[in-house]
Amino acid sequence: MSEIARAVEILRNGGIVAFPTETVYGLGADATNPRAVQRIFDVKGRPSTNPLICYVANESIARRYARDWSRHIGTSRLAQAFWPGPITLVLAKTQAIVDAVTANRDTVALRVPDHPLTLELLRAFHGPLAGPSANRSSHVSPTTAQHVRDEFGDEVELILDGGACKVGIESTVLDLSIDVPTILRPGAISREQIEGVIGPVQIQNAFSEAATPAKSPGQHERHYAPHAPAFRYEARERNKIDLTDAAAIELALDPATYARNFYARLRLLDSQNLRAIYIELPPDAPQWAAIRDRIVRATRPLP
Ligand code: AMP
Ligand code: MG
Repeated sequence: MSEIARAVEILRNGGIVAFPTETVYGLGADATNPRAVQRIFDVKGRPSTNPLICYVANESIARRYARDWSRHIGTSRLAQAFWPGPITLVLAKTQAIVDAVTANRDTVALRVPDHPLTLELLRAFHGPLAGPSANRSSHVSPTTAQHVRDEFGDEVELILDGGACKVGIESTVLDLSIDVPTILRPGAISREQIEGVIGPVQIQNAFSEAATPAKSPGQHERHYAPHAPAFRYEARERNKIDLTDAAAIELALDPATYARNFYARLRLLDSQNLRAIYIELPPDAPQWAAIRDRIVRATRPLP
């Protein structure tokens, strides 16, 4: 039996299959099977209030699970411009998606991932795959199959190895179930790229400051965090850092390269039992927005 056929069989039987995407690795279960979905929450230790993204093979399958796809004319335009790719669209849901997936909300977050192995899996599986990032809740996201093994060992029936993720940070989550399209989580597709396709969007203001309480379930303030105490610093604060038994991640020139390596670097440093990890905060500029968001959530300000 091919690996994909095995993966489909596991999913049909309510099991969990870890899968690669261009953003980070996901932990997949049949989004129409309540028990399979419950297992994902249990394995991750994820609060039941935090809804899961559903992965589908293409736009026409996505439409089956969205009740009001055409509410915004921009929905199809975005799907055509960016799918397969790192943007997740939140839309009114149909009954087939079980309530646990969406944390009892009447909306579902849909995405077509840009990875050949997972597209093959989704085409063979047909249905929607509920797939949070394949890490324990609030811990650093995984960007290789080995990261997933490190995280879960035997608790996951199968890990599909699709190599290192080429984007390296999570998708942009855009809410299209409301009147004004709103970015709920900044990600690999920038606000400017979205606005280039559908015009002005809003940004949910809770995400950028870890100090503000979460307004949307995925915006829990501690997230993406290593086990070692992690601190962020501005370039001008570099002289305040004590690197004894500690390490610093300095800024790179190129946001895409930085994003691709970010979680792997964090995991590597975290395996070295450091007293502290310091991360330089990038400039408050559009091309760094998603990375800034991840750093702010993974760290505290310098004491
Ligand atoms: P992750 O599981 O790490 O990929 O994160 C999924 C993100 O999508 C979280 O920020 C969730 O809160 C968000 N999300 C998923 N479904 C919904 C939904 N129905 N409405 C709003 N946000 C959602
Ligand atoms: Mg996650």
